[in-house]
Order: sequence, then structure tokens, then C-alpha cells
Amino acid sequence: MARFIFVAGGVMSGIGKGVATASIGKILQAKGFRVSAVKIDPYINVDAGTMNPIEHGEVFVTDDGVECDQDVGNYERFLDENLTTENYITTGRVYQTVINKERNLGYGGRCVEVVPDIPNEVIYRIKKVARNTEADFVLIEIGGTVGEYQNLLFLEAARILRLRKSEDILFILVSYLPIPAMIGEMKSKPTQTAVRLLNEAGIQPDIILARARVPLDEPRKKKISIFCNVAKEDVISAPDVKSIYEIPINFEKDNIGNRILNKFGLRAKKFDLKNWAELVKFIKSVKKPVKIGIVGKYFETGEFTLADSYISVIEAIKHAAWFFKRKPEIDWLSSEKYENSPSAVKELKRYNGIIVPGGFGSRGVEGKIKAIEFCRKNKIPFLGLCLGMQLAVIEFARNVCNLKNANSTEFLPNCQYPVIELMLEQKSLLKEKRYGGTMRLGAWPCKIKSKTISARVYKTLMTSERHRHRYELNNEFRKNLEAKGMIMAGINPEKDLVEIIEIKKHPFFVACQFHPEFKSRPLKPHPLFREFIRTATLH
Ligand code: GLN
Repeated sequence: MARFIFVAGGVMSGIGKGVATASIGKILQAKGFRVSAVKIDPYINVDAGTMNPIEHGEVFVTDDGVECDQDVGNYERFLDENLTTENYITTGRVYQTVINKERNLGYGGRCVEVVPDIPNEVIYRIKKVARNTEADFVLIEIGGTVGEYQNLLFLEAARILRLRKSEDILFILVSYLPIPAMIGEMKSKPTQTAVRLLNEAGIQPDIILARARVPLDEPRKKKISIFCNVAKEDVISAPDVKSIYEIPINFEKDNIGNRILNKFGLRAKKFDLKNWAELVKFIKSVKKPVKIGIVGKYFETGEFTLADSYISVIEAIKHAAWFFKRKPEIDWLSSEKYENSPSAVKELKRYNGIIVPGGFGSRGVEGKIKAIEFCRKNKIPFLGLCLGMQLAVIEFARNVCNLKNANSTEFLPNCQYPVIELMLEQKSLLKEKRYGGTMRLGAWPCKIKSKTISARVYKTLMTSERHRHRYELNNEFRKNLEAKGMIMAGINPEKDLVEIIEIKKHPFFVACQFHPEFKSRPLKPHPLFREFIRTATLH
């Protein structure tokens, strides 16, 4: 029988609710329980696939091909589990199902209403996760902040579920305690207000996770306890940390795992967080760097730099760097700079390795191609991801195969040498403007050519990786590229699509049509990232 733990946020967004949820899951897992996690996003979009990464951050993709929120990636990395479309709920998904059901007379002719039919659909989905995963605990993170109009119906679902099965439900509020510079004191009032707002929605939190720059002191814990109506021991200190992987260890300092279990009348079966704790200890002490540059474009928003658009890539680099006992130092390199001043590309020499990640649209593409050319000629370890592979093919076609006007039909539909072309089945989809959820998504098999770098690192000739793209290497140019030294190291056997390319006489020049970053885990770095970092440490 599953227990449900709802996690909501107070005061403001962006305080790490996702990693807090993932961390609680990690702790319960370490105590011997099966855990699954669900992300609820209150937006109308059916999924994250249609959203701009600068606005939304990375679009994470599961094996079964749902384009979801980056928090699902956090859950996968912390829990070391592959999640599915069921682990992701949006307002759009919920309404779409309810409306379709109504159109099919699924409600037997009665009036379908926002309450209770929308919360009921949410509850149905949450319970389905519990059933299908046979989890002891399902964590449900409600996106947004309490008091927002958008997530009210999800709080309503939590309230109704608690009303029905109060002994199986727990409610955690992740709140923020600011320390205003001019006062210099940690303030708990916004948290008190957040709890009031939750109370208005009919919910009393059982545990409060107090996010702040520094750990909570006793007076603050007491104050929150009294004003927010929770036991002092259930006010958990959640200070800023250097590495997100430290969070489970930190939470356990305040005994959160056993507090949760006690509330359900359960006891820990074991406590095994040893490897994780060792990794965290190492992360905090490692000094010797490996310097990696990411040449991309989804970094800037006004005066601020956003790392969120490439979070899985960043985490995958970290996992592999730690594996080789290095401290990952990652720089954002905006590709447009290499277009405006081509000699700037020389700065890539300062790096041990360069990654060109995924992306869409023509902005910044020529700069990325310049960066790839520089890596190829100067033997800088290079890893191309999705768009990164497509651009590596264009660069090679132009500069090695002498196909000067080689391009992708994504950027120049009628180009002379369309070495990257829209996949056949995509043509009608785009014509009909059917954009949502229609890319080549999720896990597809990949056959690996023997005696390649890929074969050596995967240690198998058949693998499966996650995708998210509409364009592909045009097979008409394959022979031409191969004749000049490009190796088609991975092929999708069903559709004969090129999935991995390598080039000869280079320490590491590998690019893939899929996104290996989605499958990297802190204690199990992805083989391609691992080899990339290994060669980078030698460069
Ligand atoms: N824009 C390219 C395509 O659709 C690459 C996509 C990506 O990098 N995820 O094929």
C-alpha cells in the first residue's frame, strides 16, 4: 500500500523544491523503501516540449518519450530510476483528458465540473503511479508557490485525498526564509504567511523545510513551530549548499527520514547512503580541475546567465569529472560571439574539452560550426549532442568533403547540399502545424559499429538512448562523408538513421543524435561523457 507525500512551495519559486523532493525520495530509498515521484506543473501546456528553454529551462525526456520538466531529471538522477509519462502531470494534460472523456460520454451524461472532476483526475493519476510502480512512497511535487491561482486545484486534490485517507498522506512545505541585507536577520514572517495560505486551502503542513542561506537557529525553529503549528522537530533546516547532491545528507542531520516514517507508523529497514555520502565528501574536497566549455545560446536572460537550459548536460559533465577525480569547471560560451569576431574562437584552446549541446533554430549556429571546426583541427576533445552532431556533420561536409554550401534544411530549406534533412514523417506534421509531442522522442535502439570509440566505451554493440529531434543525417551523403574519414559509429537498425558519428585521427571527436545526458547518474556517469572527460583530462 502506497503512502503519498505532497511537497508544495511557499514564499517564492526557484528555491529547490525539485531537488528537495528528490532528496527526500533518496532518503526513504536509502531506508529500504520503494519510491516514485511525480511532478505537477500548473501550466496549460500539455507538456514542456513547446516551451522556449530560456523561459522554461531544459526540457527533459523520459524513455517513453514525454517532454517534461527538468525536475523529473532530478528525480531520475537522485533515485536512479527511469520514470515515465505518468510521473508528469500538467494542467493541460489533466484538462485534455477530462474534456476528451466528456466528449466520449465518459461521465454518463452528468454535468462535468471543475471541482471535483479536475482534482479527481489528478488523484486518479497519482494513484496510478503508485499502482504501476508498486512504490511504498509516491512523492508529489506541486509546482509553483502556494497562494497562486494556478496550483489551487492541485492543492484541492491533495486536500481531498487527505480527507479520504488521512493516515496515508503527508504534507511538506518548502519555504524560504530571507535575510534582508539591511536587517541582517533571518525573517520567518513570509513562511508564516505561506502556511496561512495553505491553511486557507484546507491543508496543514506536517513538515516545513526551511530554505535559507544559512542553517536555521533554535529561536527561528521555535518561532516557526509556534506560528505555523508544527512540532519543532518537524522544522527542517535546509541551508544553501555547494552541491545539490549534499542535500539528502543535510536533511538527514535534522532526522527528516525517521520523522516521516514515524508519522506513517513505519520504521527504517536499513540506512544505506554510504556511496552517496562518499561522493558528496569527495565533491567538497576535490581540487584538480577539468575545464569544459559549453558552446550554446540559451544562456542569457537580461543581465543574468541561466544554466537551467542545459542542466542535464551540466550534471552529466559533473558525474564524469568526479569519476576521474576531477573538479568540473564549466564555462558558458555564447556561440554568437564567434560569428561576430571569428578569431575569438581561439579561446577554446583554454579548455580540456568542448561540448556543443542540443538546440533549435538558426541563431548562433554558424558560431557553433566555427567552434567545432576549431576543435577538429586542434584536436580538442569534442562531444556533440543532437544539434551538436548535426553541426559536426555540416562542418565536416563543408570543410573536409568540400561541399561548401552544406547545411541543414532547418536553417536553409533549399540549400545546395542538405546533409541534415527533415525526417520523412515530420514533413506532413510540420505542414499541418502539429508541433506538440511530435518529434522523434524517447528511447530508440542504436546498433554500434565494432572497433569504434563507442563500441569500446559502451562495451556492447546494442544500446538504447533518448531522442528529441526532427532532423537527421541525410543518408544520401553518407558514403561521401565516410570516404573522407567520418565513421558512422551508431545506427538505428529499424530506420537506418545515423545515431553516432566519430572521426578518425582525433583523440575524441564523437557526436550523437540522441541525448546521453538524460541517462547519466551521479554514481554511474554515461559512457560517452566518461570517455569525453577521460580524454579531456589528458588534453
Ligand atoms: N533542431 C534539431 C532537430 O530538431 C536538433 C534538436 C536537438 O538538438 N534536440 O533535429
